This record gives sequence, C-alpha cells and structure tokens, in this order.
Amino acid sequence: THFGFQTVDKHEKESKVANVFHSVAQQYDIMNDLMSFGIHRLWKRFTIDASGVRPGNKVLDLAGGTGDLTAKFSQLVGREGKVILADINSSMLNVGRDKLRDKGLVQNIEYVQANAQYLPFEDNTFDVITIAFGLRNVTDKDMALRSMYRVLKPGGRLLVLEFSKPEHELVNKAYDFYSFNILPKMGEIVAKDGDSYQYLAESIRMHPDQETLKSMMEQAGFEQTSFKNLTGGVVALHKGYKF
Ligand code: SAM
Repeated sequence: THFGFQTVDKHEKESKVANVFHSVAQQYDIMNDLMSFGIHRLWKRFTIDASGVRPGNKVLDLAGGTGDLTAKFSQLVGREGKVILADINSSMLNVGRDKLRDKGLVQNIEYVQANAQYLPFEDNTFDVITIAFGLRNVTDKDMALRSMYRVLKPGGRLLVLEFSKPEHELVNKAYDFYSFNILPKMGEIVAKDGDSYQYLAESIRMHPDQETLKSMMEQAGFEQTSFKNLTGGVVALHKGYKF
C-alpha cells in the first residue's frame, strides 16, 4: 500500500495516525461535511438513535475527536448523567472541547486523553460506549475491543460506527475511485494535506468487513452482536452487549 502499512511496525502506524490527526484537526469538521456530502450527520444520527442513551447514563464517546456524538449525548444524559469524550490526540480533543464549550455544553462532559487499547477507567463503568470512525485507526483492534468490554457495565452496549464493505461491486468500485482519486485531491485543496487523506483512504480499504468485525467483537466477549449497513454498506453500525 501507499504507506506500506502491512509491513511497518506498530509504532510507525501510531505516529503516522498521530501526525494525520494533529494535521487535520482544525479542518476536520469542514472536511467531514465536504467528503461525505454531509451524510456523516445522518450516520451519526442513526447511531445516537440506536444507542438508546437515557437520562442518567454514563457514556464513553471513544476516539470522539471533535465531539459530534458527545454533543448529542450530553443533551440526552442530562444533569444526572455523564459523557466522557476520550481521544488519543490532543489536537482533536482541543478542537472538540472548544467547539462544545462554544455551544454552551459544559456541565456533564469530561475530556480524557487516552488510547483505546489501554482505557484508564475502572471495570464496569459505562452504560454505553461508542467509537465512530475511530476503530480503523487503532493499531491493535482486538486489544481495544477487550478494553472496551472491560469498562462496560453488565447490560451495557458498544456501538461501532465505521466504514465497511459496500454490498454491491459497482458501488465498491465507485467508492474506491472516489477514495483514492478524489478524496486526497480534496484534502490537498481544502486542508492542504493530500497525504493525510490518502492515509484515510488506505485505512478504510484495510478495515475489516462487516462479518469480520462482528466476529472480532464476539472474540472480545460481546454477545447478541449485530450490524446494520448504512448507505449500501459504505458504513456499518455494529452493536454488541456485555451481559
Ligand atoms: N468520532 C469522531 C467523529 O466521528 O467525527 C472522530 C473520528 S476521527 C476520523 C478518528 C479519531 O480517532 C481521531 O480523533 C483520532 O485521534 C482517534 N484515535 C486514533 N487512534 C486512537 C486510539 N488508539 N485511541 C483513541 N483514539 C484514537
């Protein structure tokens, strides 16, 4: 692949991912809207609805970046609840914190810089964990899933929103063309950073497909796992429970 991700060691992947998100943080929200034609908002809305978050819940928005999900959860959990926006990258966290504070969302949100593989929380802490467009950037996904399982309360659920494998070959081809030809050019023009967007395209291509991710969740201990394809499988929302 362009960055030889099959052969580079995990430290190289980690620093590459760190550089990408330090570099794109300021432009991240506008690029999301441009690259997905605004559709990422619908995918996130679907995730919020499927999460079943209620007043008083404790929610972890992992790899939460600039906090789109956190903003909605903060309203849903109310004064009695808590949302933790955790991300490995300080630039993304800073942009997220500024954005949410500007919206007046301050009461029930905490910001934690953390690696999904080594979550710094007690066992059985959260009612709901979400990880949106984050898992594919994590070096050891199995380890991260086990870590999420550990910090979830019994009865709690994990939702993984991530790019996946389009159901139809034609969509797959069109999507590949878009990702590898158009997306890096948009990154170059708007964010002045084609390489980072080339990386994002690579990471989407290499992410496990629907069934593989479902079995990885089961391996980590999750039960009643399921997924729902969105936009023809360009994105999938996986769900699993801890009992
Ligand atoms: N969830 C947000 C959203 O949907 O808009 C942000 C998604 S952004 C594409 C991916 C995020 O994953 C980045 O903010 C990045 O810093 C974070 N990330 C990458 N590797 C991580 C890790 N090992 N642990 C925690 N966060 C990580």
